[in-house]
Amino acid sequence: MTIHTPLRSIDALIAQGLVAPDRRAALDAVAARYAVAVTPAMASLIDPADPADPIARQFIPDPAELVTLPQERADPIGDEAHSPVEGVVHRYPDRALLKLVHACPVYCRFCFRREMVGPGGDALNGEKLDAALAYLGDHPEIWEVIMTGGDPLILSARRVREVAGRLAAIPHMRVTRWHSRVPMVDPDRVTPDFAEALRVPGKASYIAIHANHPREFTPAACAALARLADAGHVLLSQSVLLKGINADVQTLSALMRAFVENRVKPYYLHHPDLAPGTAQFRLSLEEGQALVKSLRGHLSGLCQPTYILDIPGGAGKVPVGPTFLSGCETPGAVGLVEDRQGNRHAYPPV
Ligand SMILES: *Cc1c(COP(=O)(O)O)cnc(C)c1O
Ligand code: SF4
Repeated sequence: MTIHTPLRSIDALIAQGLVAPDRRAALDAVAARYAVAVTPAMASLIDPADPADPIARQFIPDPAELVTLPQERADPIGDEAHSPVEGVVHRYPDRALLKLVHACPVYCRFCFRREMVGPGGDALNGEKLDAALAYLGDHPEIWEVIMTGGDPLILSARRVREVAGRLAAIPHMRVTRWHSRVPMVDPDRVTPDFAEALRVPGKASYIAIHANHPREFTPAACAALARLADAGHVLLSQSVLLKGINADVQTLSALMRAFVENRVKPYYLHHPDLAPGTAQFRLSLEEGQALVKSLRGHLSGLCQPTYILDIPGGAGKVPVGPTFLSGCETPGAVGLVEDRQGNRHAYPPV
């Protein structure tokens, strides 16, 4: 069956056969707490007969989301503490986030901003947008502006052009970066005109594409990525390492290769954040390191992402390995470097 409109309620998911009717009450309780949306492109990828479907697990609500563990936080990466004006997060001196919208085309069940995103929240408009842009303009150390949300690619081309035109007027800002799931989950939005609108005149343009499973690379999504690359954007990847979805060597390898084949350079593989009700997706840092290490063992260097942890509370992002070097803790000691077969090789101190 062809699905034409986004599915935004448990009733709509039941009507499409993606949720069994006897789960209605349990899932309505989840939908009352966290936003739900599945685009037609993603809904049509789900195999309802597969209880472990990796697309369904990303977007179909689950009663496990109502269990919040003590270590989970509403603001897991501490955005709030680093927000000087509404819509701006300025944690690192040389770059700032500009959150243009709260809404997304899909709502990921593992979202790290799940307490902040959803339909209905106001977009950054009028005086609020003026104040956010004034802040960016008043801070000459801001070299890069990262448009995020929510998902800024749900804005119209007209609105994107308007923001882009105003960003173009900030002379110290040299680089723009959009973060989005739209090219994968709603690829028809990315028309050539829209791809063009995302270019901020005079600035280098990067787009970080969020995808978590190789099945998201449908022909339509690949065509959208090609339109963005052809319009002159440098494409980077962003994925979340998710138990039961992509946390195995085969899936991760296929995912990284799919990015590279579509001109998207793997950038970050995020360890899942401590967002409320997301324990079912988390694995340990040791398990994550072992997976990333095996990618290094058998995939092209182009396919290697950096494994990243955003330290809970707001201390920022750091790479969390794996490391191939040991023994250097003592000054003057011989280092040991591990090769991809696990053999160790001595390396002199200087
Ligand atoms: C993730 C993030 C960035 C971007 O970090 P990079 O390491 O440059 O990708 C910038 N600002 C904030 C507040 C962030 O959370
Ligand atoms: S698209 Fe990004 S911000 Fe939106 S729900 Fe998914 S992870 Fe969260």
